Amino acid sequence: MNRSHVLSLKSRLIAGVGVASALLLTSGAIAAPQLVLVNAKVFTADPALPYAQAVAIEDGRILAVGRNEQVRALTGPNTRIIDAGGRLVTPGLTEAHVHLGDALPTPPLAMPALAFPGPTAEETLAAVEQAAKTRTDWISAYIGPLIARDRRNWRKALDAVAPNAPVLLRAPWGHNSFTNSEGLRRLGIAEDIADPLGGWWGRDESGQLDGRAYEAETIMPRIRPATEERLATLFGEAQQRYARWGVTSIHLMNNDKSLEVTLAGLAIAKPLQRWTVYSWGTYETHKVPEAWAAIDRVAKQTVPKVRVEGPKWMMDGTPIEQNSLQRVDYVDRPGWRGRSNFTNEQLREILQLALTRSTQLALHVVGDAETDRVLKMMEQLAPAATWRAKRVRIEHGDGIGRDVFERVAQLGVVVTQNPTHLAIPPIAGKKMLDHEVVLKGFVSAGIPLALGSDGGIKEQNPFLNLMLAVLVPSDPSEALTREQALTAYTSGGAYAEGQEKRRGRLAPGFAADLAVLSQDVLTVPSQQLSATSSVLTMVDGEVIFEDALWTSRP
Ligand SMILES: [Zn+2]
Repeated sequence: MNRSHVLSLKSRLIAGVGVASALLLTSGAIAAPQLVLVNAKVFTADPALPYAQAVAIEDGRILAVGRNEQVRALTGPNTRIIDAGGRLVTPGLTEAHVHLGDALPTPPLAMPALAFPGPTAEETLAAVEQAAKTRTDWISAYIGPLIARDRRNWRKALDAVAPNAPVLLRAPWGHNSFTNSEGLRRLGIAEDIADPLGGWWGRDESGQLDGRAYEAETIMPRIRPATEERLATLFGEAQQRYARWGVTSIHLMNNDKSLEVTLAGLAIAKPLQRWTVYSWGTYETHKVPEAWAAIDRVAKQTVPKVRVEGPKWMMDGTPIEQNSLQRVDYVDRPGWRGRSNFTNEQLREILQLALTRSTQLALHVVGDAETDRVLKMMEQLAPAATWRAKRVRIEHGDGIGRDVFERVAQLGVVVTQNPTHLAIPPIAGKKMLDHEVVLKGFVSAGIPLALGSDGGIKEQNPFLNLMLAVLVPSDPSEALTREQALTAYTSGGAYAEGQEKRRGRLAPGFAADLAVLSQDVLTVPSQQLSATSSVLTMVDGEVIFEDALWTSRP
């Protein structure tokens, strides 16, 4: 583009601004946009101009946002013009919490009623017994809370039905696995094994291993460590699916695998979206500082579109297996309030190191008593302003009650909430969460909120989560408005990783990460929300998904 064209564009833009119209545009030298989207309902997540009709994109960034005629006036001879046909255009969604990783080492046994409440002990043992008649390889199965809460000695119970084949039972929500004596033998696990950092081996009254592995000890990577090839396939499939849902940023909680293998897998998969990998604090870590050493080790292993943050630490368990640390006894288990995965000394070391290091700390904190412990230690170690600059994440704000809202807001903690947790059905009439789940309360209290699915081994539909966030079936008074939910999924996700000045809004200078949606999620009936998809998804102005039916229209 020559200088005179730039000048003429500038004068047109200035003329547009002069009429005090709602056109937001970048300052400095202006080129004609490469692409404009017109005739859209643009939800910007930008308080300066919440809604618009058109967006102009140049060099991977948003050049201007405004009314159709204003944005059309910016176009040059080479500008691609896309008529959105009145569809909703939104900043690309951020999946702010997903795991992605290996499934069980062998195809799982068929089990009824997964995941909630899952099979009974009798059903599980019968299925394992049947399989053990013909197999000597790993017999694997997913289980639900009925097994996870069953206090029997599972090593002995499994030994009785499978004396010669190794068995792995795994909770699909993580946090606990079970094996038998043959499993322990094949893995070389002896009675004198030490507990890992942030986890422990279950033991019976006599101190013998009872076949349970908790928290940081998950057995899985011992059976089959992740490989970059398998991860590349998995990440590749996940990012394709996410592109079809309009997701442009993915926060990967990197459990059960090293940063090295994940980055290698992403390099092979060639990221479509922006990936932020939250390093797993306890993966092959024996002492707290080693978690940061793992981040240092990959400093030169850069992959385009991939950032590394963390470490992420799991401070306690979940109410499902009753290991999240609660202020009061679990309803059906007098005297038991769960437990922390780290001592006070370890928690102090984690927080102190986080204060001295540049990467962002993320903490899985679920129980209300564990929340108390973390907040108190943070307040002891540094002034609130220091913590606000660190922008600590609490993953799953399930234990953050109203009585601590003010402290959480003061410390600048970002909460990543997972609406799928709201869909966990009660078991035997008892709620799985022993406390209230909050969504709207966070927004009202000024606590930054991001949303993610907490998907396990696979990607998960963000619009199902959006639907749950605007319904909150267990407590509709905590439901978010459509705008609040979409804001949490867009600018909220960018804020949660400290990227809110670069993306998450459709505003001049921001990255052109956006989606044109199949239906207007701000107005369609709630029950239809989960059927939403994207017809056009862009990252940095590059199309990463385009619905052939939509774009081939005349
Ligand atoms: Zn999670």
